[in-house]
Amino acid sequence: MKIHEYQGKEILRKYGVATPRGIPCFSVDEAVKAAETLGGKVWVVKAQIHAGGRGKGGGVKVAKSKEDVRKLANEILGMTLVTHQTGPEGKVVKRLLIEEGADIRKELYVGMVIDRGSQRVVLMASSEGGMDIEHVAEHTPELIHKVFIDPGTGLTDAEAREISRKIGLPEAAIPEAVAFMKALYLAFWETDASLAEINPLILTGDNHVLALDAKMNFDSNALYRHPEIVAMRDLDEEDVAEIEASKFDLTYISLDGDIACLVNGAGLAMATMDIIKLYGGNPANFLDVGGGATTEKVTEAFKIMLKNDKVKAILVNIFGGIMKCDVIAEGVVSAARQVGLPVPLIVRLEGTNVDLGKKILADSGLPIISATSMADAAEKAVKAAKGK
Ligand code: ADP
Ligand code: MG
Repeated sequence: MKIHEYQGKEILRKYGVATPRGIPCFSVDEAVKAAETLGGKVWVVKAQIHAGGRGKGGGVKVAKSKEDVRKLANEILGMTLVTHQTGPEGKVVKRLLIEEGADIRKELYVGMVIDRGSQRVVLMASSEGGMDIEHVAEHTPELIHKVFIDPGTGLTDAEAREISRKIGLPEAAIPEAVAFMKALYLAFWETDASLAEINPLILTGDNHVLALDAKMNFDSNALYRHPEIVAMRDLDEEDVAEIEASKFDLTYISLDGDIACLVNGAGLAMATMDIIKLYGGNPANFLDVGGGATTEKVTEAFKIMLKNDKVKAILVNIFGGIMKCDVIAEGVVSAARQVGLPVPLIVRLEGTNVDLGKKILADSGLPIISATSMADAAEKAVKAAKGK
C-alpha cells in the first residue's frame, strides 16, 4: 500500500526522523493559512500524489510571499500532473503539502527496501541525491553505498557512521545522520514497510540533516497489524477496478493490453500473460481468482474485466487441483449468462473432473471457444482479439 509524502513524514517524525515542518491542505485558502501558521519567509507548495518526479513535472514550487503561496496553490491544486511515474494520463492533484522552505547545502539520497537475496533490509545511500537518482543508479552505480542490515542487531551506530561518511557528510553532521538513519530503520521495521525512500535527504547550511521528501510503501499482508496506516489509504489514488476486485478477494492488476485473463494461481496467471505475449498479444489485466473460486467470485471477476472497454477477448485458464473443473465451468457459464458475452471467450481447463467441466461448457449453448492446451488457448485468444 502506498501513502502520500505528508503522511510518510508524519510516521517518520514519530520515530524521530527529522523533517521540515509542514501542513497538508485541500484548498487554496487552507494553503495560505498553513503558510501563516508555519511563519517564515519561504514556503514550498508540494502536490501530493502517489508518484515521484513531481518536481520535474511542475508539482513542487517555491513561494516567497503569501500571495505566491496563493497563486501556486491555485495552479497546482486540480492540475493534471504528469511525471515519469504517473503514465501519460497523469494524476489530478487533490491535496497539497505546504512546507517551510529549507536551506539546502547538498541533496543526498537514503533508501531502504527488502533485499530478497540476502533476506535483509538493505540501506542504500548516495551523495548524489535529488531528482536524478535513477540516472545515478544506471550510469554510476558505484556511487550508491549499501548496508545489509542484520535483523538481530538492527542498524548499528558503526554501520550508520560509516555510510554517512561514505556519502560525504561532514563530521559536524555525522551524529545527527547516525540518529536519522537508525530512526528511519526503526520506522521501516516497525511499520512493516516494503520501501522507505528519502530523496533528497539534505544537509542544511548549518549542518543539520533533514528528510525533504518521503516515500513509504507497506507490505499489504501485514496491514492487519497497522490500522493507523490503513486509515491513511487514499482511494482517489488507486485504480477503480483494483479496489473493486479487492472487495471480492480477487487479486487484480490493470494492464494496457486487450486480452482479459481469468486464472487461478499467481504463477499460472504470470505464465498465461507470458504465453499471450509469446503469441503476439497483450494482456489487459492480471487476475488471480485464488484457490477457492466460487460462482459469485467468477461472476464478479467477469464484471470487473468487462468494465475495461479495451478488452477484445477473454481467456480463462484454470488448473483444477483443489478446485474442480466442473465447479469452475459452472461458474463460467453462470457468469457469462449474467454478464453477457460481448467479446469471444476462450476457456482452457485441465485437472480434476476436466471431462465433466468441458461437457458443462459444451452443453451450455454459449459460444465458448474451448482450448486443449495453454498454447492453443493463447493462440486462439490472440486471434480472437485481432478479430480473426
Ligand atoms: P519529487 O521527488 O516528487 O520531485 P521532492 O519532494 O523530492 O519531490 O521535491 C523536489 C525538489 O524540490 C527537491 O529535490 C528539492 O530540491 C525541492 N524541495 C522540496 N521540498 C523542499 C523544501 N521544503 N524546501 C526547499 N526545497 C524543497
Ligand atoms: Mg523526491
